[in-house]
Order: sequence, then structure tokens, then C-alpha cells
Amino acid sequence: MEMRCEILGADERLQGVVKVRVPGIYGRKGDPLPRRMAKLVEPAAVALQRVYQDIVREGGHLYISDMFRSASQQQKAHEDWKLGRKSAFSPPSCSSVHEAARAIDIDAFDTGIGHRRVRELLNRHGWTHIVETLTGPECWHYEFREERWEEYRAQHGYAAMARAMKEEIGNRAGLTRAQRQEEEIRWLQASLNKLLRTRLVVDGIYGEKTKEAVRKFQRRHGLQVDGIAGPITKGKIRELLAEV
Ligand SMILES: [Zn+2]
Repeated sequence: MEMRCEILGADERLQGVVKVRVPGIYGRKGDPLPRRMAKLVEPAAVALQRVYQDIVREGGHLYISDMFRSASQQQKAHEDWKLGRKSAFSPPSCSSVHEAARAIDIDAFDTGIGHRRVRELLNRHGWTHIVETLTGPECWHYEFREERWEEYRAQHGYAAMARAMKEEIGNRAGLTRAQRQEEEIRWLQASLNKLLRTRLVVDGIYGEKTKEAVRKFQRRHGLQVDGIAGPITKGKIRELLAEV
């Protein structure tokens, strides 16, 4: 297919996300990236169009190997990595910008004009790299943060940014109730670690230590001490995190 990023229209299930058509690496190289992956928030898609224009003008090309992942796809990629079926690290669902439709993985080793130049062009249009090297692991990963998310990251950290980005587009489909609960508990554990300086294992299991930390938090903030993280307790946590 032609070396460009074509915007096909809004995705009906995700907020502010558009479907795109870009050259992928699956099947015959250059065939469109599979549709379930080919999604970006609109400003990211527009920026990627400009990147393609610049690259083509210089006689280069750009193949995309990964883009959007639904919450369940991300979880599966993580399981595959844990089991050694996949060598590139994939974080569990909820901490990847791919789930926010703001990330691409490129074929960094086949660009025609060199990865260094492609990186310059990506950067110029607002696509940020996450590792400095041009050949090491994750050198192929780029994400579109915009200023407001850069600020958010500076204040709350990378994982919180990725989570909030993902929430913004409403990428929840595919998560089972149990997975959602687990996610909530992981968030709770990580938050308590931050606020109480406890060292809870962030495993998504509501065990005795987590319960005890919740009680401690409730005592400290004059809440009802029942060890249950209900809406009031969680609300207080969110309030404090916003100030941390
Ligand atoms: Zn990536």
C-alpha cells in the first residue's frame, strides 16, 4: 500500500479515537496494519500523517508493527511475556500507552533513511521516544503525549499518566469484572504505598496486609476504620494523590 497514514473516521466505541490505515509488517510487508490495532487519538493520527509526508518526501518509508491494544489484548501480551512466549516486555493492562491509542511501534530497522532521521521527524511532530538508543529494546516505541499529558506525567508519574490517558478514551471493553476488580486493588495498593510509605506487593489481591494498610489510612484520616476501601476511602486517596 501507499506510504501514508490515512484517517478513516471515528471509532464508534472509543472517545476521540479514529481508525487509520497505515503500512504494517504483517502478511506481506506494507499491507495495512490489522484493523483492531489501527487506531489513534485524532491529534496523534494527524501528527502521524505529517510524519509520513516528511519521510516520503525524503525517500524513506515507515512500517508500523504495533499501535492500539484493547485492555484484554494488553493483558494477554503481558501473560505471553511472563510465560516467555514473547521476548519484548509488555506491562500488564493499565500501564501501557498503547491502550490509550497514543503509541506506535515502528520497524526501526527498515526505514530507508535511517532510524536517526525518522526519529527526528517523529519528534518534530510530537511523537516522543522512551529510550535514547536507536537500536536497543523499545527503541521502536513512540508515544504522543502533548503538553497536558507531559505535565500530568511530571506530577503523577508515568503509570498514572498511562492509566488516565486510557480512561480518557474509555478503553475498558474486554476486561472481565474480575480483572477490573484486580486492577482497582492494584491501584489501591500502589496508592497506599505512595501515601503511607508501606511496601505492599502490588498483586491485585486484597489480603491481610492490604486490609491493614487500609485501616491505617482510615485511622490517619479520621474515616470509619473498617478495612474496606469504599467510595469515601478511595475518594480521600484520590484527593491526596492529586496533591502529592
Ligand atoms: Zn510500544
